Amino acid sequence: MRNAPDLIVVGAGVVGASCAYYAARAGLTVTVIDRGSVAGGTTGAGEGNLLVSDKEPGPELELALYSTRLWRELAEALPARIEYEAKGGLVVASDGPAMTALGDFAARQARHGVSTETVPGERLREREPHLAPDLAGGVHYPQDAQVQPALAAAHLLRAAGDRLRLRLGEEVTEVLTGPSGEVRGVRTSAGELHAPYVVNAAGSWGGELARLAGVELPVRPRRGFVLVTEPLPRVVRRKVYAADYVADVASDSAALQTSAVVEGTPAGPVLIGASRERVGFDRSLSVTALRRLAGQAVRLFPVLATVRALRTYAGFRPYLPDHLPAIGPDPRRPGLLHACGHEGAGIGLAPATGRIIAEGLTGSLTGGQLPLDITPFRPDRFDRGDDL
Ligand SMILES: Cc1cc2nc3c(=O)[nH]c(=O)nc-3n(C[C@H](O)[C@H](O)[C@H](O)COP(=O)(O)OP(=O)(O)OC[C@H]3O[C@@H](n4cnc5c(N)ncnc54)[C@H](O)[C@@H]3O)c2cc1C
Repeated sequence: MRNAPDLIVVGAGVVGASCAYYAARAGLTVTVIDRGSVAGGTTGAGEGNLLVSDKEPGPELELALYSTRLWRELAEALPARIEYEAKGGLVVASDGPAMTALGDFAARQARHGVSTETVPGERLREREPHLAPDLAGGVHYPQDAQVQPALAAAHLLRAAGDRLRLRLGEEVTEVLTGPSGEVRGVRTSAGELHAPYVVNAAGSWGGELARLAGVELPVRPRRGFVLVTEPLPRVVRRKVYAADYVADVASDSAALQTSAVVEGTPAGPVLIGASRERVGFDRSLSVTALRRLAGQAVRLFPVLATVRALRTYAGFRPYLPDHLPAIGPDPRRPGLLHACGHEGAGIGLAPATGRIIAEGLTGSLTGGQLPLDITPFRPDRFDRGDDL
């Protein structure tokens, strides 16, 4: 590979790795730069749910459905070590009114390509034998899946092959521009690297990277805690969560929201995630958030009441004010592309994002025929005050 790549990707999380993978497959040479390690940002804190079940009909659902298909292809192309499991999701409702609302939501999703199956309360425990006995019912979403995000990011980078160079432990401190304001590369702690295109895949730090390029993108961190139990036999088969989780995800409030998503893992520990609050990059432990998550998980699965939590960790979701990511070229800075701001869905949405970026640069993967309208993700939309 010659010294100057076609493309520089800033960020070696799952989104940057996916951009690099699809760009390399489209024939571009790519250098990925991260000031830390592969998946050392939010990706390493994510649970790896690949969900369509929590998405309202609209642009994010379309992106998720596209990404779901791409994850299935990737599961064939990448090693089994990425722990892709097409295990489906089960959303449950505690009482009649909640079940009616969940049923209406699922019916609207079904009209937009989501597979749904209503499960009456008395049949829930055929699906999940350890669920609380008094739930009103639920909806099964067979398209929901699971992946190990850090391994997925690492294997996407490896699968990019010899068109990819990976530079870790190197911070991008400047985006270099030419006489007409066009991107010419980046300056890092190790010197200059030139390329005609730079992709901002800096996750929760995407706003800072944008500012280095002289443009505004209002990415902010939305903190989340995850509780990890001691290893257990498989007491939770799918990913299971209560219907009110969807409202938490869509909320614009900075205040603490919790609605437990419970899932077993092949290694045994049960993951209970995740809280949501906007408190900047504050990592200090919130006992309130953890207590609420644990209480909600036990209400869904009473068997967890006597199980020990071994550890907890926090991460920062890259939040944009309209809950949609920024994907694509930035008209304010030619040569700059953004692939960030995926909030709590970046693992699920990474393949579609990478493919859109690669397609935008080469037009060679789908012959210019993307299966969705990407204008809702345009990075300059906040300049005009749209969608806020
Ligand atoms: C608790 C929790 C649970 C979650 N669960 C899920 C889930 O189940 N499913 C799902 O889809 N999503 C989930 N998410 C969200 C998901 O983890 C993120 O959306 C996703 O990981 C974002 O990936 P990314 O590659 O954009 O960012 P990151 O993984 O944060 O990568 C960005 C990288 O950019 C690097 N960087 C930043 N600035 C610079 C610079 N100036 N120079 C060099 N490098 C730089 C950072 O070091 C970092 O490695 C969860 C998030 C949290 C916090």
